Amino acid sequence: MTVLLVHYHEIALKARNRPFFVNQLVRNLKRATADFPVRRIQKLPGRVLLELAGENAAQEVAERVRRVFGVANCCSALRCDLDLEALKNTAAKALAGRPFQTFRVTARRAYKTFPLTSPQLNEILGTFVLERFPARVDLKNPELTLFVDILPKEAFIYLEKVRGPGGLPVGVAGRVIALLSGGIDSPVAAYRMMRRGCQVSFVHFHGAPFLDRRTQEKAREIVKLLTRYQYTSRLYLVPFGEAQQEVVVNTPAPYRVLLYRRLMARIAEHLASLEGAKALVTGESLGQVASQTLENLTVIEEAVKLPLLRPLIGMDKEEITEQAKEIGTYEISIQPDQDCCTLFVPRHPATRATMDDIGRAEMTLDLDRLVKAGAERTDLEAFTSPEIA
Ligand code: ATP
Ligand code: MG
Repeated sequence: MTVLLVHYHEIALKARNRPFFVNQLVRNLKRATADFPVRRIQKLPGRVLLELAGENAAQEVAERVRRVFGVANCCSALRCDLDLEALKNTAAKALAGRPFQTFRVTARRAYKTFPLTSPQLNEILGTFVLERFPARVDLKNPELTLFVDILPKEAFIYLEKVRGPGGLPVGVAGRVIALLSGGIDSPVAAYRMMRRGCQVSFVHFHGAPFLDRRTQEKAREIVKLLTRYQYTSRLYLVPFGEAQQEVVVNTPAPYRVLLYRRLMARIAEHLASLEGAKALVTGESLGQVASQTLENLTVIEEAVKLPLLRPLIGMDKEEITEQAKEIGTYEISIQPDQDCCTLFVPRHPATRATMDDIGRAEMTLDLDRLVKAGAERTDLEAFTSPEIA
């Protein structure tokens, strides 16, 4: 019977905490494949095994598994008993109908209870393949590798390891709130935090009542797509136009974008306290635009007590764009919109604001009221993936 064998890498490095990480991985594998007939998900030494109820959906299930964070690779494998005859027969079965000219055997013994060592197994099975198939051994650059994993009670044989995304299972690192614009960067930032085990909630500020609903639609589409990686999401939609108008009326033009950002951070922090989120996340990258100089980044994070995480800080726009394409958010992000931060902004924003400048500008604002009003008018939407009836 074909099964899916999941290997993890970084989790394997954890010592005492490993069960916590593996249990979350198993939970996430269950959630990722909830709409498919998966009979059983089982923890094995150093691996996780998915037994399918039939061969039909094997391809689709494997695709889902390959998106689950924590998965180093996923192999479609044949399971067999722990004796040499069974290993040979199963190897022959795995290789049947697969033309190849060069090969190698890569056996791994997870536990030393099996009487043969890995090199001995490589040799015995290699000889067996040579007798059966018109091929030669090439250890360095084989056309095909016969992988043999020997576990305490059974063995698995497979020919391909398909890479997963790596990282840590969503849920092991706690909850964060990502500030999500309609741009290219912030979805990538959220993705990277998920990949480090965070459950991400999203907050999007929109220009209502001065701008149309486009950016809200984009935020929804992006969250819907990203929910594939964490199974459930919450999106807070905050009307921000009126708060911006107050900023415009009361403060000098060059500081507006920074004042918007500080206010956004404060409202996000308020929502974080309701969510039990431990940090805020943005898509800022050093030097990308005027608001992202070291001075201005500092001014933004001074507004809040929670850590403000910027996973893209050292990345080039090109690298970020490439990753957005891989994740699938790029196509959504490039659709035209009007981000609320483009409302009432000056041609020449301050690139090196100081806390003195900003403090003076904010004296004219009733920040508590603005934060409260923003939070009160917020709409909350929930997403799940896969959507199960
Ligand atoms: P992005 O592609 O994420 O929009 P950007 O390079 O356009 O990034 P900015 O527009 O300066 O950069 O925004 C910097 C960060 O501020 C964004 O990555 C996002 O985290 C946050 N942000 C900006 N606008 C909004 C918004 N309308 N709602 C929520 N967060 C926002
Ligand atoms: Mg933007």
